[in-house]
Amino acid sequence: MSISVNNLTKIYGSQKAIDAINFSVRTGEIVGFLGPNGAGKSTTMKILTGYMEATSGSAVVNQFDVAKQSMSARASIGYLPEHNPLYLDMYVAEFLQFIGRLYGIKKPLLNERIEEMIEICGLKNERHKQIGQLSKGYRQRVGLAQAFIHQPQVLILDEPTTGLDPNQLVEIRQLITTLGKDKTVLLSTHIMQEVEAICSRVIIINRGRIVADDALQNLRGGD
Ligand code: ADP
Ligand code: ADP
Repeated sequence: MSISVNNLTKIYGSQKAIDAINFSVRTGEIVGFLGPNGAGKSTTMKILTGYMEATSGSAVVNQFDVAKQSMSARASIGYLPEHNPLYLDMYVAEFLQFIGRLYGIKKPLLNERIEEMIEICGLKNERHKQIGQLSKGYRQRVGLAQAFIHQPQVLILDEPTTGLDPNQLVEIRQLITTLGKDKTVLLSTHIMQEVEAICSRVIIINRGRIVADDALQNLRGGD
């Protein structure tokens, strides 16, 4: 298992955001994490990526307990948060340098990785632009490029296509499929079509509880 979530619970004040959830994701899967706003998707993802502590339970990514071995866990995870904290005044290539250094990647390897990500993510004409000048779709490309700069095995993508126009949507889904090949991807969304477009399995969460976890063909067969 690349991702394993065990009885994970998060309580904010008196609000139970996730309630003893369990699921796992195998290497090579692209799994949709589907649920309405407020269901607990972002909370789960923030715990998986080590940005937030669980109230109880555990999360294991690439055999690292994210609470106890957070540095090792983070090194193996690429994360695209929903509210992507991109630095709007930074230039695209400069931003990728900055993120790469945070991961401790040294030149000249870092320069190679940056060129590779610019190529794969279709950012050739944007590399000398400031992030603030880019459209939402191109910002998401930058977001994916930074999430992938250290070649993680596991990708955690929080609502990666929300707010994109139809053309951008197709392009970003294609890019996620390309980057996610042979990796482990957990992608949150509140749209079933998103899951149908790129996922092989779906985990449905509602009010902090997992209400379905199945291969897509089985869910379709059920209705
Ligand atoms: P989703 O990502 O599915 O929209 P969230 O994980 O963001 O859901 O939120 C789950 C629940 O927890 C919601 O009711 C939300 O209002 C609440 N919540 C999220 N973050 C916080 C927070 N920092 N403090 C208090 N409540 C929060
Ligand atoms: P998300 O779905 O990513 O949590 P939101 O727009 O719901 O996005 O929340 C933005 C920020 O506010 C997040 O950091 C979230 O944890 C926090 N938040 C969400 N709901 C609440 C809440 N009810 N009380 C306090 N903070 C919240």
